[in-house]
Amino acid sequence: AKRVGGSGWRAYDPASTLRRARSRLLEAELRTGLDQGQFFLLFQPQVSLTSGRLAGAEALLRWQHPTLGMISPAEFISISEANGFICDLGQFMFREACKAATSWPSHVSVAVNISPVQFLRGDLLSDIRAALAASGLAPHRLHVEITESIFVERSEELFSKLDALRDLGVTIALDDFGTGYSSLSYISSLPLDKLKIDQSFVREMVSDPATQSIVQAVMTLAHGLGLKVVGEGVENALQSEMLAAMGCEEGQGYLFGRPQSARQIQALSAAHSLL
Ligand code: C2E
Ligand code: CA
Ligand code: CA
Ligand code: CA
Repeated sequence: AKRVGGSGWRAYDPASTLRRARSRLLEAELRTGLDQGQFFLLFQPQVSLTSGRLAGAEALLRWQHPTLGMISPAEFISISEANGFICDLGQFMFREACKAATSWPSHVSVAVNISPVQFLRGDLLSDIRAALAASGLAPHRLHVEITESIFVERSEELFSKLDALRDLGVTIALDDFGTGYSSLSYISSLPLDKLKIDQSFVREMVSDPATQSIVQAVMTLAHGLGLKVVGEGVENALQSEMLAAMGCEEGQGYLFGRPQSARQIQALSAAHSLL
């Protein structure tokens, strides 16, 4: 057993020891991984539920390590947030995502996830400006996805950064909506363009009337505020049809496509309908 703080003892836990060791290993490999081109982006289709056409794609980071294999963002994003490396990854993401989108038709957008750490620590605005300039991508085609967790600190700096982002002309989406703590009314005070309904709601709404009412209420409020709505984690036609019937503009999920290469997205953009 190990002494913890001044009070009590914690049993030796081999699983958590292993987890910490793996964490340290990954942390030590991040920099080399980025320098040696082990990171890349995949893109998941976002489909218009009215026309069935491809509306955009979300960039999702992947790490193909030479000996550890494919490492999930669920694992390396939190490590990168803890040590600040997320800001370097962010710079890479913006550059690669904007470049990829220039090979797609002009009605197809690209969405990039921004971690709260990047928002508060990194040189976010200049990274985005540089990526837009280098690629020549029209700013409105770049969508940034933020989560409610960035509003934990409701600082002046946060709001001025959001406003600056807006001034750049990029589109701002609130990700994973419903999993955080913001009230519906709080959303109205934020400079947003889009709201993404978390996949847990999309999954549950088909069998649970209460969840369906929540999704409908969110949709009504969002539309009242002039926001577009995207349903996440759409895996079957019933979910897609329910969202469409509620007036949801876009859907994203395995029904329409897994995360895939920029070239594959380009091919999808030629399809008449993905519904
Ligand atoms: P997220 O932003 O909510 O991204 C959606 C996640 O749901 C992706 O997992 C995607 O593959 C998965 N997904 C999409 N459709 C479906 C579906 O129909 N069913 C199910 N069960 N899952 C679906 P992924 O790629 O493993 O990413 C996980 C999380 O890692 C992301 O959640 C995001 O928070 C973070 N992440 C990924 N790439 C980046 C990045 O470039 N930057 C930052 N800051 N975070 C990233
Ligand atoms: Ca996202
Ligand atoms: Ca999400
Ligand atoms: Ca998520």
